[in-house]
Amino acid sequence: MSSNTQRKTVLITGCSSGIGESLAREFQNRDYNVIATARRLESISHLREAGMTTLSLDVTKPESVKAVEMEVGRITEGKLDVLVNNAGILTRGALADVSPEHIYSIFNTNVFGIMAVVSALLPLLIAAKGTIVNISSASSVTPFPFKGPYAMTKAALNSYGRTLAIELSPFDVHVLTCPTGYIQSKLEANGTDQVPEKSLYKAMAGKMELGLPDTQMEGTEYAKLVVNEVQKGRGWGFGPWRF
Ligand code: NDP
Repeated sequence: MSSNTQRKTVLITGCSSGIGESLAREFQNRDYNVIATARRLESISHLREAGMTTLSLDVTKPESVKAVEMEVGRITEGKLDVLVNNAGILTRGALADVSPEHIYSIFNTNVFGIMAVVSALLPLLIAAKGTIVNISSASSVTPFPFKGPYAMTKAALNSYGRTLAIELSPFDVHVLTCPTGYIQSKLEANGTDQVPEKSLYKAMAGKMELGLPDTQMEGTEYAKLVVNEVQKGRGWGFGPWRF
């Protein structure tokens, strides 16, 4: 990483594609030192070539989280300005059928993984009076059939983020939790398990609660909104869409 100590440093999880990659590029455009992480280092070699520091991080593996904690402490000299918890997975299933193992598995990435990374990097964030960004989902507040397990993880993330914001306020660490709308990415295509028949969706259409504004946008556009919110330095809350 370039050793310009005036510049702020951001670490982003899940940069191999989609929103994570867009956020990495947007933070770099705004002159941050970017630590881009991904499960497979080769998947972010293009970000390293673009001048970012790249590290391997699987948020579900304690040894991987520990290694990143050590390495980030070393390269940032003990201060991290922004942590973006972006890594996440989508699995589908009817709530009446999903197994406890299915629920545990998605919580392991989307909630427990985030909690582990936050706990590991918190001393560095406190030292910088930094900001934690959680990429949540509109589905956390708007039910959608067969995405119940995913929605449950994101609802838990909202609750985690709001409580964390209060608990970390004495340390001047900000927490921003973003209930993201639809962004084109490989998330849906990679979604696994029990994909329902299209006709079932049709039959349920009238029952869905579409309470959110149309938030469909490109990842690059969304990344700009998130970085704007980080730079406003808000203490807590939901953004870019507030409820
Ligand atoms: P992508 O599938 O493109 O990105 C997901 C990223 O998470 C990938 O880089 C993936 O890495 C990474 N990842 C998955 N599991 C782990 C893990 N155990 N450890 C580290 N990284 C992991 O989807 P999006 O860009 O759309 O999703 C990014 C975030 O945005 C997610 O949290 C998602 O829930 C959220 N979101 C997305 C919406 C959308 O419409 N796209 C809407 C609302 C929220 P790998 O390449 O290794 O699989």
